[in-house]
Amino acid sequence: MQASPVSTFAPGEPLAVLTTQPLDRLLDYRAPEGGAVIGDFVEVPLGPRKVLGCVWGPSESGLPLAKLRAVIRVLDVPPMRDELHSFLMRAAEYTLTPLSLMLFLATRAPGLSSGPAMIRVFRLGNAEPVRMTDARRRVLDVFDSYGGSALTIGEITRAAGVTGSVVNTMAAHGALIEGEAPKDQPYPRLNPGLAGKPLSEDQQAAVDALAAGGDGFGVTLLKGVTGSGKTEVYLEAVANCLRQGRQALVLLPEIGLTEGFLERVEARFGVRPGEWHSGVTMTERRRLWRMAGEGRVSMVVGARSALFLPYRDLGLIVVDEEHDTSYKQDDGVMYNARDMAVLRASLASAQVVLASATPSLESWANAEAGKYKRVDLHARFGVAELPKMRALDLRGQKMPHGRWIAPALKDAVDARLAAGEQSLLFLNRRGYAPVTTCRACGHQIACENCDSRMVEHRFLNRLMCHQCGATAPIPTACPECKTEGSMHPIGPGVERLDEETRSLWPDARVAVLSSDLFGSARALKEQIAAIAAGAADIVIGTQLVAKGHNFPLLTLVGVIDADLGLHGGDLRAAERTFQLIRQVAGRAGRHDKPGLALLQTHQPDHPVIQAILSGDDEGFWQAEANERQALAMPPYGRLAGIILSSTSLEHAFEMGNLLARNPEALHKIGAQVYGPAPAPIARVRGRHRVRLLVKAAKGAPLQQAIRAWLAPLKLPGDTRLAVDIDPQSF
Ligand code: ADP
Ligand code: ZN
Ligand code: ZN
Repeated sequence: MQASPVSTFAPGEPLAVLTTQPLDRLLDYRAPEGGAVIGDFVEVPLGPRKVLGCVWGPSESGLPLAKLRAVIRVLDVPPMRDELHSFLMRAAEYTLTPLSLMLFLATRAPGLSSGPAMIRVFRLGNAEPVRMTDARRRVLDVFDSYGGSALTIGEITRAAGVTGSVVNTMAAHGALIEGEAPKDQPYPRLNPGLAGKPLSEDQQAAVDALAAGGDGFGVTLLKGVTGSGKTEVYLEAVANCLRQGRQALVLLPEIGLTEGFLERVEARFGVRPGEWHSGVTMTERRRLWRMAGEGRVSMVVGARSALFLPYRDLGLIVVDEEHDTSYKQDDGVMYNARDMAVLRASLASAQVVLASATPSLESWANAEAGKYKRVDLHARFGVAELPKMRALDLRGQKMPHGRWIAPALKDAVDARLAAGEQSLLFLNRRGYAPVTTCRACGHQIACENCDSRMVEHRFLNRLMCHQCGATAPIPTACPECKTEGSMHPIGPGVERLDEETRSLWPDARVAVLSSDLFGSARALKEQIAAIAAGAADIVIGTQLVAKGHNFPLLTLVGVIDADLGLHGGDLRAAERTFQLIRQVAGRAGRHDKPGLALLQTHQPDHPVIQAILSGDDEGFWQAEANERQALAMPPYGRLAGIILSSTSLEHAFEMGNLLARNPEALHKIGAQVYGPAPAPIARVRGRHRVRLLVKAAKGAPLQQAIRAWLAPLKLPGDTRLAVDIDPQSF
């Protein structure tokens, strides 16, 4: 029999603590002086260390009191609420992740356990009289990149790569001013009473439909083409949530996008919301974590991990660009932030808004099935019209060697240049050329860690692996046959496209937007702002440009290779290509001038290309849905990936085969197992990865069966196993 639920513990009473350490069980401790309650965040001894934990329940181990060590202290933050507690439990069950890892996600606020009332910080002083060294210059740059805000010594040393003594010396010379930051300040309240923009009829109808969801749980898919005013609409849903005194969370897929968004929030509500992502200082994140729990931040804008903050009363979660693949975390805890948002909202009695111009098939199907409400914005806001779409049939066009811009696309760019408008050339391939091969022997250079090809990056003057990030010098001779000068590029990457563009239009201002060309998120942000302000005539970009940026002067989008991505044997290829090209095309003509999108293709009749051209979204999704339904694949069936990784390919396969030969636990629920086969990313950082796919019917208890199936497995030392529920690629 289990003890009846106890929620408070007198000093010395036994209690169970969940720690963030990778253990698969709770640990027992004695309550500290002053007692403890369930949910208290605590510091506990573990071996020689002190670790962070959370009081999870009464002790169940029956260990004698005398054997237990005492909780060191209860942290000065509000205890974890039932809602977050349940969320972590349910998320752990769903993703088959150890609960400790979930707690780790939820307690990533730096300095949580130190929690002093005041912290020592530095501000910029007068650096002029101080002799400059490289290290000191880097320190100043760090202040610059955080907009001059006060920083702790840890933040400075980490970001600048200097020792503490550099900082202290600079402070002694007055280049930095030492001070104390006040104890965590609440965020200024957003004011939902300020007037929003007058809404179009379509927008008002959407706002009303969202408001009709009430203040309980519900999910709405907000579908509208890029530029239709979705953001304005969901900001009204935020206003509604704030009026009820509840907290709102907006998830964005790209940190690069937050600046423009923060400004819009400030324009609408008078002040900026709290921000949570990797580009935010430690001090600021620690403050936000606390304020979320105390209910003293009313709105948070963040990356997917913002879902795990200890909100006091979450009333709304918006997932913007909900189809974006970056919502899926692919290592550590493999979760999809969109799905976890729905789970958390159901436990918090909150509303969810999933916004996209090109929803995921999952969300589309949920709306079709009536599980989600669906609200559509049909036209672009104001006079802006959707771009015209046209295919440029490359079949039979003789393109000169090393040329990728067809004559018709060149003419279209010429016309934009003459009119003082911007053009975007889109190619989803970083680097100079996807393949570098030896003319003499055909050798291609592969990464030493993975099996993927090394891609030539002329800008960095290195070869780079896009799988694991490894780099190597570009060889002058073939490493295989040693022929000098024989390595030559095949196919285009954005850098090569840049070369062609500059030779076609030597007087045009050309900007390349590719993630590897920017040293920091801030540099990228500045470049995007400059382009929006008109600092470039021709923009060349990878998928980075597909994401929500607003370039008012842009009227032409040229897709260099619309067929890229259609092949790859992945069932989602069609969906991804459709989303990507629609999003990119959506960059054109967002303001008063009409836009045009030209798609260079060898398969103008391909159903995906046809669907993009015709604008028949519903037809496309229906066709995709039919295909997936026929195969009982997601969202009409369930999948899980089991990834086994090892330094030895043989071991990984052995374990995979062992699992595949013992599928009884899966067969019990009617599930099938496929594989093992090399995982989509077959080798990472020297580890081989093989994957088994488990396929089950939609309603089947997949997680339970997988747990039973994996339980008897004993992994050899160097082999690791990870479960990927709802994998991205299949
Ligand atoms: P989406 O989120 O669907 O891409 P946005 O909300 O960003 O669309 O709106 C597109 C553009 O139209 C933005 O520049 C926005 O400021 C403007 N806009 C949208 N709704 C209104 C409105 N009701 N009044 C004035 N401008 C609006
Ligand atoms: Zn060779
Ligand atoms: Zn690699």
